[in-house]
Amino acid sequence: VEAVPLNGDAPGGMEGGVLVILRDETEKHTLERIRKDFVANASHELRTPLSIINGYLENLVEGDISEPDETKRAFGIMRKHGDRLAQIVEDLLVISRMESGEPEAVRVEEFDFKACAQDVIHRLTPVITTKEAKVEVVLVDNCSPYIHGDRYYWDQILFNLVSNALKENLARGLQVTILLKQEGDISEIQVRDNGVGIPHADLPFVFKRFYRVARHHSKDIKGTGLGLSIVKRAVEAHHGTITVHSRPGIETLFTIRVPRAARG
Ligand code: ADP
Repeated sequence: VEAVPLNGDAPGGMEGGVLVILRDETEKHTLERIRKDFVANASHELRTPLSIINGYLENLVEGDISEPDETKRAFGIMRKHGDRLAQIVEDLLVISRMESGEPEAVRVEEFDFKACAQDVIHRLTPVITTKEAKVEVVLVDNCSPYIHGDRYYWDQILFNLVSNALKENLARGLQVTILLKQEGDISEIQVRDNGVGIPHADLPFVFKRFYRVARHHSKDIKGTGLGLSIVKRAVEAHHGTITVHSRPGIETLFTIRVPRAARG
């Protein structure tokens, strides 16, 4: 709360009064609302797979499902939702680590970005091969492959961006490029793909927690809607910015800009 004494120039001749600005309170209020929404959303997201698993367990216990084929199918569905639960909990732990605000939460040091990107590509090789996709790392003008940051988070950032591109695109022959450009005091990282893209109307929301683009096949695509919010958080922890542009069917481009020198 901010109190500003009014002088004779105040509108409405309120001389001698006090103008009370409620900016801080409003901000606190907004943060509190975001936190409550988050807890509500997280609980909802955890409850859905849990109730599906419990539903199938009950059917099995009660003998409503007993045929071998049906039983096998039930276990398959339970495993899928169990995996989803594990992924949500994993993502929530990453978010909570980033939000802990501890100074050691982000360790900024110089590391080889190209090696980090290649490591991510290596881990995604089974998916890349199955989808006959091509993922490459490009250093613009043969620039230095080193950037400042916490390699642990950069691993998360690149993994989430590249795996999103692979996950969302069911068609074969996808091209994904991870590009690094060193420009003065800034390292710019682009992750682009030539796939289905993100509809214009969804673009403002994709970094929000639990937001997922509704697609006709979205039930088949694994995801928590937390990936991009983790990416944005991690970029901001590096004093950087992230933007997204998409022309569906032509190109989707995520651009990250971070300072080249370490900042406290
Ligand atoms: P999810 O866990 O669902 O992948 P994200 O927060 O990582 O959640 O992404 C939010 C939504 O943005 C996803 O549901 C997906 O539809 C869309 N999206 C993200 N990256 C891409 C991409 N490269 N191409 C198409 N859609 C994307």
